[in-house]
Amino acid sequence: MKQRLLFVPTLKEAPKDAEVKSHKLMARAGLIKQTASGIYTYLPLAHRVIRNIEKIIREELDSRGCSELLMPALQPRDLWESSGRWSEYGPELMRLKDRKDRDFCLGPTHEEVITDIVRDYANSYKKLPLALYQIQTKFRDEMRPRFGLMRGREFIMKDLYTFSESAEDLDYWYKLMKAAYTRIFERTGLATRIVSSDVGQIGGDEADEFMVMSEVGEDTITYCQSCAYATNQEFSKLATGDPCPLCGGTIATAKGIEVGNIFKLGTKYSNSMKALFTNREGTLEPIIMGCYGLGISRTLMAIVEQHSTETGLLWPDEVSPFDIHLVPVSYKNDALINKVENLYDLLSESYDVLLDDRDERAGVKFKDADLIGIPIRIIIGKDFENGQVEVINRKDDVKKIVPLEGLLETLKSFN
Ligand code: ATP
Ligand code: MG
Repeated sequence: MKQRLLFVPTLKEAPKDAEVKSHKLMARAGLIKQTASGIYTYLPLAHRVIRNIEKIIREELDSRGCSELLMPALQPRDLWESSGRWSEYGPELMRLKDRKDRDFCLGPTHEEVITDIVRDYANSYKKLPLALYQIQTKFRDEMRPRFGLMRGREFIMKDLYTFSESAEDLDYWYKLMKAAYTRIFERTGLATRIVSSDVGQIGGDEADEFMVMSEVGEDTITYCQSCAYATNQEFSKLATGDPCPLCGGTIATAKGIEVGNIFKLGTKYSNSMKALFTNREGTLEPIIMGCYGLGISRTLMAIVEQHSTETGLLWPDEVSPFDIHLVPVSYKNDALINKVENLYDLLSESYDVLLDDRDERAGVKFKDADLIGIPIRIIIGKDFENGQVEVINRKDDVKKIVPLEGLLETLKSFN
């Protein structure tokens, strides 16, 4: 891809309302643009990262037997009445009317819609289990939208719902999804901690949150310094210095960003919405459900927070918008342009390459490249005449002058 056509509107100054590092950087690096409070456009670079995160999610879920569908964002009031949540949900629910004055909402989550879909089909244990997911835009009229994509009013979520005939089967899926989430976050380059939590609003049994430890997080986590014990402080009476209830080690507290949340819903929705099936004994009972949310746009924000300095980003390999940033110091005369394009074509056979084809000063190009944060940079400078380029592996900041014949070899050695 050529940078001129990609549309990367980098900024010298972050917008005034950007409080945290990741929000400032995302605006300055031309990743997002605010359209209204808590509502953002994902510009091309961010959109590429979102697609990479979604690819990882799809691979990890599909390989574990989950199946993807796409439900409507616009949902009728009667479904929400049937679960009791039309009145329970409160002002976070974005409500609207159609031309015939009928009530609708923009989905903040999809338990009602999915339960409605599955109850008409799964009337027997023979049709269970099911594990269905979607990747979709969610709407929540948050009281305090803030920190860019961290708490938006419109955001992208992967939500998955499982339907089981027994508590054992739910437990099987719950463990499988916990493992899938662990793997998904590992692949995105995020260090997360699993924190057990109360079930709050949704109702049911067990629940776990996936937290990115970060001082800009809105949750406080109490965790043991010696074992894996961790819980959301909302649900614990523990404080820094207390003994760990599991191993006696010392409890510490830290801030965290919740990027994922998994719940054993049990029969809350299948009871209220009458999603029943005939079990192996021939009697009717409610389907046992689990729900598993992962905030994709918030994950993007957390990656930026974790993988950046004040001056720029450094994308983890698997989510990076490009593999290589090819930066010619000058891009003016035809002969040079021709040679650069040949190199670009060659590299593009094996890599996703971004070529800075802008007619800008080298300083401007380097500053933007630092901001954008592609893991490998190849600089085409004076030595190009002699068949040499400079290669920078930004992860360890090693710079090498490499002859063109050895370039592919050098790039391979980075993996
Ligand atoms: P929070 O406590 O942060 O409001 P939640 O418990 O309401 O989160 P869930 O309903 O479990 O969140 O949604 C699943 C995931 O969606 C969350 O783990 C988070 O990553 C993401 N998410 C929730 N609300 C928002 C939001 N307003 N903006 C961006 N992502 C969000
Ligand atoms: Mg919330």
